[in-house]
Formats: sequence, structure tokens, C-alpha cells
Amino acid sequence: MIKFNVPCVFGCENEYLQDALNRHSLGGDGIYTKKCNQFLEEKFCAKKVHLTTSCSAALDLAAMLCGLKEGDEVILPSFTFPTSASSFVLSGAKCVFVDIREDTLNIDETKIEQAITERTKVICVVHYAGVACEMDTIMDIAKRHNLLVVEDAAQGVMSTYKGRALGTIGDFGCYSFHETKNYTAGEGGALIINNEKYFTDAENKLDCGTDRQGFLRGEVGAYSWVTLGTSFMPSELNAAYLYGQLLHCEEINDNRLKSWNTYYEGLKDLKEIGKIDIPFVPHDCVHNAHMFAIRVKDESERALLIQYLKDHEIQAVFHYQPLHSSKQGKKCGIFHGEDRYTTKESSRLLRLPLYYGLKMEDLRNVIKAIHEFYEIEY
Ligand SMILES: *Cc1c(COP(=O)(O)O)cnc(C)c1O
Repeated sequence: MIKFNVPCVFGCENEYLQDALNRHSLGGDGIYTKKCNQFLEEKFCAKKVHLTTSCSAALDLAAMLCGLKEGDEVILPSFTFPTSASSFVLSGAKCVFVDIREDTLNIDETKIEQAITERTKVICVVHYAGVACEMDTIMDIAKRHNLLVVEDAAQGVMSTYKGRALGTIGDFGCYSFHETKNYTAGEGGALIINNEKYFTDAENKLDCGTDRQGFLRGEVGAYSWVTLGTSFMPSELNAAYLYGQLLHCEEINDNRLKSWNTYYEGLKDLKEIGKIDIPFVPHDCVHNAHMFAIRVKDESERALLIQYLKDHEIQAVFHYQPLHSSKQGKKCGIFHGEDRYTTKESSRLLRLPLYYGLKMEDLRNVIKAIHEFYEIEY
């Protein structure tokens, strides 16, 4: 069976895990957490990075920092993972979903402004498949309307927009190091803070709402409860494992890109004859090969293709149920404007196997099987 995902193991992780164990100090905020934070800050020219227990936790923290009140509104796409939305809802906000673009499946930047009301506080963008949203336009809208921008860059580690790392453009950026993502800590994430105004508050909130960090620097005599927060920091074991992968992020990225490009070259004939759609990467964007998703005619053709691939020992999956049509989404959000692409595109999307170390032979078998399904010579 060619699996859809195999969590990344580069091979050096044990060394760092063992070193972390030898230090007899596995709580958060230790040496490996600091190494990861510093690595990410330097690699991506980020002002401040804090590892968190997940991207969902980083989103929760970002939402808390936004200081939302009951009834405030957050504009975001409906085609995304639930926690892009729920973090803001937990802070009391209402979701205002807008449509996605047909080409990248990212939020349609031309639909955002019409959805703004006097209650709008935040735009949350999701860089789907590690391909950037149209950030210049979005940042300009945010500036003119005095809104905060949170980037859900869960899938965007190592991707850029006009040369800038995803996650470093808005006020806050959130990364995921879940085992389904390009770099992993098993479970893990990071919050990037680009707006210096939030540095101290973030430091306190992520350390259980205390000013312990200031205390450790000798700025206060004793630490105490200064704000609402929780325990957002991962253990040193997670950080040590992740650190090994970050040190080899270029090799991991190159390997994924090689697989992605093989799919692209191998499937573009099917795109040319109108059988499927393949990913589109705008000119200003460098992507990280997080995902290779094709789009077929419709939902029933997708079901047939999934079964066909399964019969050929290939696991292919799909996502996302649009949030505005989900049980929870209906309670806490509305769709603004026309749903031209969200429901349609999500119903015909199919993700192909893609992970670090995927064999060339397996890639060819997937490409061949898809050609056979359409009865086109490969
Ligand atoms: C994976 C993912 C998340 C959640 O990441 P966790 O680290 O599992 O919490 C959030 N948003 C998007 C777009 C994702 O792909």
C-alpha cells in the first residue's frame, strides 16, 4: 500500500532526543525549545517565535492576543481546518466566511472588503497547501480598516510570498509541526509575532498567564498571575525531535519538491485535455510541496477514483467539509456573499500521497494508475 502520509523521520532525531534526556530537564522553555525558536527566527527573519504544543494552540494564543470581545467578527475562508475558526470563537467572536479563489483555493482577497462591518476585528488567512494568499492586497485592506491579520501558516513552513516567509507578514503567524506536516514534533506548533506591541503579553499568556519570563530576566522580584493564559509550551522531547528536522529542513524540502514536480510533470497532460485540475502556484509564491491535490469532475468521479486507487494499493484522501456547512460552523458563523467555489471545489478535490522519502517508483505508479482510470496512455 502506498500510504497517503508517512510522518517524517530524517534519521538524526534520536541524537537530539538522547541529549534532551541526558539533561534531566524535560519541561517547556528548555534548551531545545530555545534552539528551535532561534532557528526559526533566523531562518525566516521572524521577529519573535515561540514553540507551542500545536498550531491549534498557537491560533488560540493569537486569538487571545487579539483581545476579542463577544460579538466581534473574524473574516476567514470556510475551506479550512476547524481550528482556524474555533480559536476565534473560543474568544467570543463570530466567523464571517468568504469564498475562496478557484485557482489556489485560498481566501479570495477581492471578497474580503465587502464582508467588513464595524464589528470586524481580524482577518485570518490560510495559506492552503503552502501556497501564499495575496498578502499585499490583504495587508492593505487590514491597514485601511484597522484590522489585525492572523496567518494560519500551518501548511506553510518554508514557503514564501515575494521573498518573505509565510507567517511573518501579518501581525501573527501560526505553524504546525503535527505529524502530517512537512516538519514534525509529533504534536507541535509555533506562534510568530511580527507586531512588537504583543511581545510581552504573548510571553505572559504562553507561560500560564504569569510574568515568569520577566522574572527569569530579573525584571521583577517574584512572578505572579498577570493575565489570562495557559500552558502553551511543548516538552523538551518534542522540541529536541523537531530540532533535528529543522537542521535538515532544506533536504526535506528538496525531497518533497522533487516528488511534487514529478506529479506535476506526470499529470499535466490530463490537465491539458481537461480531465483534471492540478495545483496552481502564482508567480510571486515559492511553495514547500506540502500537498499535491488534484481536482476531478465531481464528487461521484472522486469516489470512483479513490476506489480505483485503493484497488491499486494507493491511499488518496480528501478534505475539508466547508466550515459553514458543518454542525458547529452553522452555530457560530455565516457565509458572506456567494459560495461559488468553496463547496464545489472541496467536493471534487483529491490529495495524492506525498511525504518525505516517497519513492520515485511509487510516484510513477500513482501517475500511471490515474492515467489508467481515465483510459489515457501514460
Ligand atoms: C494542520 C492544520 C491546523 C492544525 O494544526 P495542529 O498542529 O494539528 O493543531 C490548523 N490549520 C490548518 C490549515 C492546518 O492544516
